[in-house]
Amino acid sequence: MDLLQQFASDNYSGICPEAWSAMEAANNGSASSYGDDPWTKRAADAFRNLFETDCEVFFVFNGTAANSLALASLCQSYHGVICSSGAHVETDECGAPEFFSNGSKLFVAESQDGKLSPAAIQEIATKRQDIHYPKPLVATITQATETGLVYTPEELSAVAEKCEAHNLRLHMDGARFANACVRLGCSPAEISWKSGIDVLCFGGTKNGMAVGEAILFFDRKLAEDFDYRCKQAGQLASKMRFLAAPWIGLIESGTWLRNAVHGNACARYFADQITTIPGIQIASAVESNAVFVTASDRSLDLLRQHGWKFYTFIGGAARFMFSWDSKRERIDELCRDLRSCVMETCSL
Ligand SMILES: *Cc1c(COP(=O)(O)O)cnc(C)c1O
Repeated sequence: MDLLQQFASDNYSGICPEAWSAMEAANNGSASSYGDDPWTKRAADAFRNLFETDCEVFFVFNGTAANSLALASLCQSYHGVICSSGAHVETDECGAPEFFSNGSKLFVAESQDGKLSPAAIQEIATKRQDIHYPKPLVATITQATETGLVYTPEELSAVAEKCEAHNLRLHMDGARFANACVRLGCSPAEISWKSGIDVLCFGGTKNGMAVGEAILFFDRKLAEDFDYRCKQAGQLASKMRFLAAPWIGLIESGTWLRNAVHGNACARYFADQITTIPGIQIASAVESNAVFVTASDRSLDLLRQHGWKFYTFIGGAARFMFSWDSKRERIDELCRDLRSCVMETCSL
């Protein structure tokens, strides 16, 4: 069955050929389990090369686990994690960060654009110092953000400086880290450990894998016993080579970056095509692979009736996400239908 392509999420995409063939290449005979295999070692080394540093690398199944376990490893249960009100850890992980940390509190900073500002970090970090309130110990930011924006290296440094001033560790949710690298033209090192990030969750699923996220600890001390934490949480793959091998396919060939180049370019293309439609607005700057469109409820209802899928609960607008396999002709169809739905509802 060949389903029509949709742009509701970048996780609607399939597995890219490079990830697929790397998985196939690993399907050769038997290998030691639980990560004690040559593919896992090679994938971890690929990350160390890519990030130009001797970090600790772990592979888990999904982003919720990656974020939650990483945050839990930075906190005791009486600590707090500062995040933006738009953060995936706050809005889309069903309380997993609190659950896996045994109750660390998320301190949510209201944010218009979805970014966590240095001022907000300062305000929360200094709000209370008494024994009756959880102690802030971590800040988490998302790169690219849930609303498709990127933190520039300068913004990252300003966040990291604030964290340092208040003795906070800094975690980055990089579900779309590749898209941010493309947008900024920066190396992975520049916008992670060189910008003060202690732990990065690097997204594989939305980039083109079937499943999998990598957790990179730039401060190796913070990774102590993290393997036990993964195992206890049900995130230690027994046939680890199949979780690790696709990373080899993505990273050694540079595919991780090319996939993000394509996703970002498709978002740009879509945004450019729809700017001439009267009565709609692009709600958030297009800086990665997302386009948020504000249009009347009636026109969006009509667009759904035309068979298009999209979410409106994120960022307060209709969200369209593009991935490695987004097709130009299908984007053109979406533009055409969006235009006709808006025109039809305008003239009613
Ligand atoms: C998709 C996504 C994740 C990962 O979500 P899972 O569904 O748990 O894999 C994490 N953070 C952000 C910002 C995301 O968009």
